[in-house]
Amino acid sequence: MRTIRVGILTAPHIDYELREKTFVLHNVRIGIGFHWDRLEDQEFEGQLEIIPNPDGTETAVNIIELEQYLTSVISSEMRADCPMELLKAHAVIARSWLIAQLNEVHPHDLYDVCADDHCQRYEGIRRRNDRAVQAVHDTEGQVLTYNHKICDCRYHKCCGGKTELFETCWPLDDKTAYPYLQSVDCPYCAKAVGRKDILRTILNDYDQETADFHDWQYAYYNKDVQAIVPLHRGASGRIDRLKLVYQDGHEEVIGKELAIRKALSDTCLYSSWFEVESTLEKGGFILHGHGWGHGVGLCQIGAAVMAAEGASYQQILTYYYQGTTLLEINYILS
Ligand SMILES: [Zn+2]
Ligand SMILES: [Zn+2]
Repeated sequence: MRTIRVGILTAPHIDYELREKTFVLHNVRIGIGFHWDRLEDQEFEGQLEIIPNPDGTETAVNIIELEQYLTSVISSEMRADCPMELLKAHAVIARSWLIAQLNEVHPHDLYDVCADDHCQRYEGIRRRNDRAVQAVHDTEGQVLTYNHKICDCRYHKCCGGKTELFETCWPLDDKTAYPYLQSVDCPYCAKAVGRKDILRTILNDYDQETADFHDWQYAYYNKDVQAIVPLHRGASGRIDRLKLVYQDGHEEVIGKELAIRKALSDTCLYSSWFEVESTLEKGGFILHGHGWGHGVGLCQIGAAVMAAEGASYQQILTYYYQGTTLLEINYILS
């Protein structure tokens, strides 16, 4: 069985505790730079490797079997009582995404993937639950493919009504084309608004603090900014090129999607899909926004509604990743 290396955290000193079959890392920071940023103690299976860095800091890496890693990812992303078909859909995309990264992308140097939202949320075993383990087991080795290649399955919390194209969020080079990441209408996530019964089953405790995931408003104050001008929008309406005009006359163009979200908020805007209302008499702007996340690929809240309405995990996957085929692989890749 294949193992992977997951980078958990880098700190001046790694504070850890070895137990019989597991280890605990203290003060792990999750949601770095996002509005749910916080510290947690986390417990892991597999091995712990501590790597000293040239700048004197240390990096904790967890070496763990791939399918075991996936059970924690699914548990970190979704709650135990969420619909089984959603858990299975999530197991397939988390596995596909991971193997696509291992084979081609290599986002990090010291390890294969990080444990934060930058790659996939991996929070050890404390949130792990039996149904997530079941979903990973029931779909063992299954990946989504397009033209015999494993898909780089992106996903996000809530599309806001329409999913986005890859190139709105990340640079597209000649090697990478994503015909399976089309923009699709998603009437599903809107049905979850105000439905605490649905949201409670799919969002972790700290994600439930975000109630306005489908439509939101954000007040932006910066006395130096005279105008916020969207220059270009992707297929959903997410802005990928934005101009800030300053009072002193100089202009700044920002892109792509994530850079815009970070430029306008210290904790990162929910998404870059917004309309700008100027409230110059008060010296600011109100952004009227939609969705939570980059909007590419599967909409988690929409998929939860689909599952609650009786869709199978295969139907959910082909809805958000059009033209794909589900295949089973065995791990002789490396
Ligand atoms: Zn990462
Ligand atoms: Zn949606």
